[in-house]
Amino acid sequence: MALLVQKYGGTSVGDVTRIQRVADKVIAARQQGHDLVVVVSAMSGETNRLIELAHSISEHPDPRELDVLLATGEQVTIALLSMALQARDYAARSFTGSQVHILTDSVYNKARILEIDDRRVRAELAKGKVVVVAGFQGVDEDGSITTLGRGGSDTSAVALAAALSADECQIFTDVDGVYTTDPRIEPNARRLDQITFEEMLEMASLGSKVLQIRAVEYAGKYNVPLRVLSTFEDGPGTLISYEEPRLEKAMISGIAFNKDEAQITVNRVVDKPGIAWKLLGPVSEASIEVDMIVQNNTGDERTDFTFTVHRNDFKRALQLVKQTADELDAESVDGDATIVKLSLVGVGMRSHAGIASRMFKALAEEGINIRMISTSEIKISVVIDEKYLELGVRALHQAFRLDLPIQIVEPGEQPAA
Ligand code: ASP
Ligand code: MG
Repeated sequence: MALLVQKYGGTSVGDVTRIQRVADKVIAARQQGHDLVVVVSAMSGETNRLIELAHSISEHPDPRELDVLLATGEQVTIALLSMALQARDYAARSFTGSQVHILTDSVYNKARILEIDDRRVRAELAKGKVVVVAGFQGVDEDGSITTLGRGGSDTSAVALAAALSADECQIFTDVDGVYTTDPRIEPNARRLDQITFEEMLEMASLGSKVLQIRAVEYAGKYNVPLRVLSTFEDGPGTLISYEEPRLEKAMISGIAFNKDEAQITVNRVVDKPGIAWKLLGPVSEASIEVDMIVQNNTGDERTDFTFTVHRNDFKRALQLVKQTADELDAESVDGDATIVKLSLVGVGMRSHAGIASRMFKALAEEGINIRMISTSEIKISVVIDEKYLELGVRALHQAFRLDLPIQIVEPGEQPAA
């Protein structure tokens, strides 16, 4: 018997039939003897509908009132799910975020959870009830309703699981787990049985959008085992925890990619102290985030300086850099917004050498030119032309045999001492 927090997203509660199916799932877990806290999103499309309503009244709706409006979406689903459970003779009780006292700061529309008073929930669980809580919302110190930002129900669930020291936080969604890469690009992509928080953060931030990143960070911080699984099919899903799979089993967990990158190159700027700072200073002052940075001496006291930014920031960053580059007497500035970043992610990389060369070989064999490379303990990223994204993903997936549950170590890839 365990204490489980289950979260069902918008598509899982998209209509009455689906809410009944969620009730089936909850009842099945009850029958196994588990205590359950169920967090639900608004029915799919509802939050968007509410946002549109607000905007049809005002271009800039008051943030506090917007949260009062948005929080209604989840209030509908907690009531319906509780009714569905009660109709089948299961004791259930619904609560809004403010009723279970999910205390947040007062940053409307993207509030952060500060504290959860778990007494109310525990008291209801002790009475044998399924506790159904509205996701995505909380209450600030003044008693105003707040919401947590789009996709925030994941964070609600994780925060409740942390506050209750739940055995597992289960995120039910329309996919049956976390995959080695996007199955729409690589049909041989495989569901992972488990992955670490660190890896998941890399996969999530690089575009495998299964979970809200903030929820993964939160789960890692409070060590809440997270499981992603499907509402519509039975299966074990993917467990996200601190546990690292055994070495020989998984050097690489997956291939993530980011299609929103753009590259800026300053050609032949004088190579002297302060150049990087002068070029990037104005960019960071404009709150533009810089991702990869490469600097290369050209052998004659000049240097090439390249970095990447989000495509949305490309024009602005290019403008800023051109200004500084002129002042610094650089030869020219180039920009390219048709690049992508591909990353190989795996905690097993820490303990194996030779992974990078297998990666570069696989890309070379497909004639894919690598423009930039960066590495961390658990990740190797390359920047390539966007037209090679699909080919690159498939080449790496095949080269590392990510279609197989057990990976093959090639000659030259030695476990590190
Ligand atoms: N209903 C909210 C949204 O659509 C929160 C959630 O679904 O997690 O963003
Ligand atoms: Mg969602």
